[in-house]
Amino acid sequence: MAKAMIIGCGGVASVAIHKCCQNSGVFSEIMIASRTKSKCDALKEKLAGGETIIHTARVDADNTDELIALIEQFKPDIVINLALPYQDLTIMDACLATKTHYLDTANYEPTDTAKFEYSWQWDYRERFEEAGITAILGCGFDPGVTGVFSAYAQKRHFDEIHFLDILDANAGDHGYPFATNFNPEINIREVSAKGSYWENGQWVHTEPMEIKRVYDFPRIGEKDMYLLHHEELESLALNLNGIKRIRFFMTFGQNYLTHLKCLENVGMTSIEPIDYNGMPIVPLQFLKAVLPDPASLGPRTKGKTNIGCIFQGVKDGKEKTYYLYNVCDHEECCKEVGSQAISYTTGVPAMIGTMLLLQGVWKKPGVYNVEEFDPDPFMAALNEWGLPWVEDFNPALVD
Ligand code: NDP
Repeated sequence: MAKAMIIGCGGVASVAIHKCCQNSGVFSEIMIASRTKSKCDALKEKLAGGETIIHTARVDADNTDELIALIEQFKPDIVINLALPYQDLTIMDACLATKTHYLDTANYEPTDTAKFEYSWQWDYRERFEEAGITAILGCGFDPGVTGVFSAYAQKRHFDEIHFLDILDANAGDHGYPFATNFNPEINIREVSAKGSYWENGQWVHTEPMEIKRVYDFPRIGEKDMYLLHHEELESLALNLNGIKRIRFFMTFGQNYLTHLKCLENVGMTSIEPIDYNGMPIVPLQFLKAVLPDPASLGPRTKGKTNIGCIFQGVKDGKEKTYYLYNVCDHEECCKEVGSQAISYTTGVPAMIGTMLLLQGVWKKPGVYNVEEFDPDPFMAALNEWGLPWVEDFNPALVD
């Protein structure tokens, strides 16, 4: 029986909140606190009648004092940060000041630089340890389940993992000419950035979308996928025994790429403010305002996602390959919680990580990435809470 405060009330938060309410034995009371309180109230109304007690509040998560005041008033056991990566540090500061556990799904990114890395949040390790509180970083699907899959592969199947390819495929169709499946601003910053992968102890940098491969995904079929920089590469490079190379690939359709190129070419993806009739406007933020809200895509999206990890390494002196993945159906997710699969595959792991922390299973003072905990209880919970996984011991490899 615990109290959780969820910050943000967008696509991912909505799924996590539904899942907390399905799990009222653990989440007896929650507070949904976000910038737009009407969204929190609408979700509370939708979920009325369940056993979890729901409160709502307005909060500006960029303001640490506001957060501290709200935490002191509600006294949650944990704050689940499902707002944007820009708010990670202010929310961690508020957790430190109030000695409250913390969990998020995306690493910190400053608003004025399109760059994300863990160093800012890893800097909190000693302070969290001294305060006796736990921070779990990157507990969505990727990052999140991909780290749990890696820890599981390391624990159960390998003495050393030499090569890891993380493959993220979305074969969903929402019927719009162009829309993103999670926050458009964060999504476009991520996919328009230069790519990189980790090899033999160092980063190899690429131009955006420079490296393309085609992969035949189980239950989805053949898709074009492109190498991106992704945040879990940074922690997995440190936490996997014997690792020589880690790459991350995401699928994109030609239509998406053509729209993105056009928007880039006309300057709409820029994060540099421009002057418009005497008012500073950030083109990418304006673009976000005219694009479909990812939280509204649920009822329109058909098809499946397949996200997983292909490992190559050695066990008992023998070479071995292992593919661990989840397939998630957009329409099934919508039937269950009213959201598409990208929000679902992120919101469910956020609930699971929080549950394990609250149950004391994943609790140790300090700041941790998910692969630093025992993967077994998380793997069992994935099967129980809607994200079952599949193993393949003879997968096709990515060249
Ligand atoms: P949305 O844009 O749908 O939701 C973000 C929510 O945060 C909105 O409710 C927004 O409020 C609120 N918010 C933004 N700024 C503030 C603020 N200053 N104070 C309080 N609330 C604020 O995003 P998503 O749900 O798609 O994504 C949420 C997070 O999940 C992001 O960090 C994203 O990067 C991450 N993510 C992680 C994935 C993973 O696998 N690890 C995959 C997909 C997403 P308002 O309603 O007013 O706009």
